[in-house]
Parts: sequence; structure tokens; C-alpha cells
Amino acid sequence: MSSSVALRLPSIDGLLRHPACLPLAERYGREALLSGLRQLLDELRLSVLQGQLSAIEISPEVLAGRVGERLARQQRSNVRRVFNLTGTVLHTNLGRALLPEEAIDAVQMAARYPLNLEFDLATGKRGDRDDLIEGLIRELTGAEAVTVVNNNAAAVLLTLNSLGARKEGIISRGELIEIGGAFRIPDIMARAGVRLHEVGTTNRTHARDYEAAISPRSGLIMRVHASNYSIEGFTARVPTAELAELAHRHGLPLLEDLGSGSLLDLTRWGLPAEPTVRQALLDGADIVTFSGDKLLGGPQAGLIVGRKDLIAKIKKNPLKRALRVDKLTLAALEAVLGLYRDPDRLAERLPSLRLLTRPQADIFAQACRLQPAMAEVLGEPWQVSAVQALGMIGSGSQPVARLPSAALCLRPQVSKRMRGRCLLNLEAALRALPIPVLGRIDDDALWLDLRQLDDEPAWLAQLPQLQVES
Ligand SMILES: *Cc1c(COP(=O)(O)O)cnc(C)c1O
Repeated sequence: MSSSVALRLPSIDGLLRHPACLPLAERYGREALLSGLRQLLDELRLSVLQGQLSAIEISPEVLAGRVGERLARQQRSNVRRVFNLTGTVLHTNLGRALLPEEAIDAVQMAARYPLNLEFDLATGKRGDRDDLIEGLIRELTGAEAVTVVNNNAAAVLLTLNSLGARKEGIISRGELIEIGGAFRIPDIMARAGVRLHEVGTTNRTHARDYEAAISPRSGLIMRVHASNYSIEGFTARVPTAELAELAHRHGLPLLEDLGSGSLLDLTRWGLPAEPTVRQALLDGADIVTFSGDKLLGGPQAGLIVGRKDLIAKIKKNPLKRALRVDKLTLAALEAVLGLYRDPDRLAERLPSLRLLTRPQADIFAQACRLQPAMAEVLGEPWQVSAVQALGMIGSGSQPVARLPSAALCLRPQVSKRMRGRCLLNLEAALRALPIPVLGRIDDDALWLDLRQLDDEPAWLAQLPQLQVES
């Protein structure tokens, strides 16, 4: 290819006035069109110089088409809807819980109008944003008081700093956890100014271990729910009620980080048991922290509930101001909590619970229904089958429990050597769809777990656009 071939391109001015470009100027604005055209022409000139392009003439219509695609790509939001077919319902990387309509309405209202965020309408005086949900939380958990922050990591940090700074925090070696995103209990304690005093062993910690650690330097005892792993076999753990009694005998508060926690006993919906906030408080925990967007099914938030005097201390901490939640979160949280007042209808109204409790037979029927369309689009080299599968709750709830589910299992019919590449290509093609489809690769196949496929028409409609590189 010769770099001496001159590329004949229309002038920018000519292009701007060309009928093929006029609708683009209308749609994206003249400035954006101009800069898009400049970038495109520069790239074309460069390709010719580098000998990658041999076309000598490119029509204004072709250029308009290319610049149109570029502008559409640039205008597309970076925050995009996806289909979560990974099998993990509360997926941290995919935004965790989906909000119920009631919460979406509340968020819209809060976004659109001024509101009584920190204003007491009864007295006309300044109010406290926590008051907006305190009544509901007290009713649902039996707690004396509550404060809300940005997420549960913030709740743990703020509580530790407020109650244990410059003192020792006593915790079992079996509970020094790391959860995703670099949240490690020893590091959080250090940042909170609490000196870690670890007791017991990884698998067994006894009351006498805690007892022996207590000294005038002690500030609190902490218990952390082992969210993302389980210790089985020869284990011992002091029940919360006994640990609370021990802490109180020595005048120390017991802090329990439940992680996900739950407001209701999930076994009534056939889900694995998860500790409830009410039970932790009944057992004597003085402060309980948990997430808003895990099993609770609401917006990202961290809830700190428990003894009134301790909550008052936590709220006085200047860090509270740095970690507080915004009005959209509070609006959504109040609406979600409101649904919990009617547990009988909760599974219909709260999307995360509805999805978690979706019967396997229902999901399997959907897999059978969608199998022919998927098989047709993928064609010859793929075996597409509707199969039973196992999903999980996610977000550190019940790490070993599996949710009986169903999936489309996509298996490449190629030699073993080619399989990995084939699967990665299919994965990339699914991600490139207008609404990216995310599954999981396991056992030489790509699995699309359908538990969370609500919007079947949208999923089917974009399927013909799937283009798998071979
Ligand atoms: C998830 C979790 C956290 C962190 O909660 P975020 O809401 O993600 O900040 C803290 N502790 C435990 C035990 C958890 O499971």
C-alpha cells in the first residue's frame, strides 16, 4: 500500500452544510458535530499516512454515518442498565438491591421538590434527618434509637470511633474478616482509632478468652457476622446473649456488625436463616449495624441502631456529618421500610425478596421458553440447553447456601483447546449488546441464570443483534 495516495476528503465547512449532516447538528448540536468531524477526518488522514487505508475518496454520506455513530456513542450515558444473569441476586458490582416502585416514587418526589429534610413541620424548628425514619426503625427492630450513614462500612467506622477511640476493641480471631472492596476489620479499627485486642483462635473462642482480655484499657467488645465464609467442624463461639451479659458485667458496650442482617425471619419464605436485627438487640447487643442495600432491599445506606445514649454519642461525632446520607437515600429508605409493616405482601412488593423467592419451576419454564431463540441466534457451534442451576443471594448473605434456580447453558462444540477463547468471545458479545447481558463461565460453558430476567421482551428483542467473533 502506498502512502503517496492522497486522500480526498470534503472540507469541514462543506460537510457541516451537507444535507446528511444537518440532522446530526440538530440532534447533537453544531459544536459536537464539528469536533466529531474533525476527529474523524484526522483519524482518516492518519490511517492513510500509515498505509492502513487505501480508499481514495469517501463520500459525505459515509462520513456522516460514521460521525453519527461516534456522536451516539459519546452521548450514551456511562451509567448503564444491564441484565444480571450471573445467578448472584444482590451483586455488589451490579448495584445490589433493586428498589420497589414505592421507593422510586419517593426518590422522584425528593429530587423534584423542596422537602422537610431537616425541618420539623410540627414546631417549625430545625429538625434532624434521622427523625424521618426513626419511628419506623424502632417499630421494626425494637431499637431505642437510630442513625443512618452512607453504607455499613461507614456505620462500623463511625460506631467504633465514637465508642472506642483510644481504647481497646476486643474481638474474636474468628471474626477478623475481610469483605470485598478492601474492607478489613483490623484496618477499619485502626482508622477508627481503636486498638485491636484479638482473642481466641480462628475456629474456637470462649467466654474466658474475652474475660481474660478485659482491662481498664478496654472500650468495647465487637462481634462481626462472618458474611462471606463459614467455619465448620470443631468450632466454638460465645452466643450473643452470653457475650452481652459478660460485656455489661464489665461496663462495656457490645457492638454487633450484622453485615446484611435482616428485619424479618427469612425462613418464612423458605430462605436460609439470617440473623435478625431485632434478635441481636433482644440478645443484648447495645449497637447493631447493617446495610440498607443487602437483604433489606433498599438504597445504599448503613443503619446504626440500639441504645439511646450510645446513638446520641455517635450522632455527636463530627465524622457523622461527613458520612451522612442524602435526601434521595432517606426518601427511598423510608418507602422500603414502610413495606415491611405488611410482611404478608412483602415478597410481592420488594423486588429483591420477590427475586430471591422466585420458584425454580417458574425459572425453569422460562429457560425452556427462551432456549429455541437463543439456539437459533447462536447457531451450529453452540449447544444451548435449559438446565437447573444453583445461584446465590450475594452481598455476603449466606455464602454457602445455594438458591435452586435454572439457566440457559451455552456450550461451545469445539475442541478443548478452543473452548476458552470461544467462551470469552461469547461473553464479550453479550456484553456488547445495547443492554449488556452478564452471565458466568463455569465448567466449560457460559451460564445465563434466569432468576432475575424480568424484562423478557427487551431481552428477546435485542438478541438478533448478537455478533459472536469466531
Ligand atoms: C457487607 C458488610 C459490610 C459493609 O457493608 P457496606 O454496606 O457494603 O458498606 C460490613 N460488615 C459486614 C459483616 C458485611 O457483610
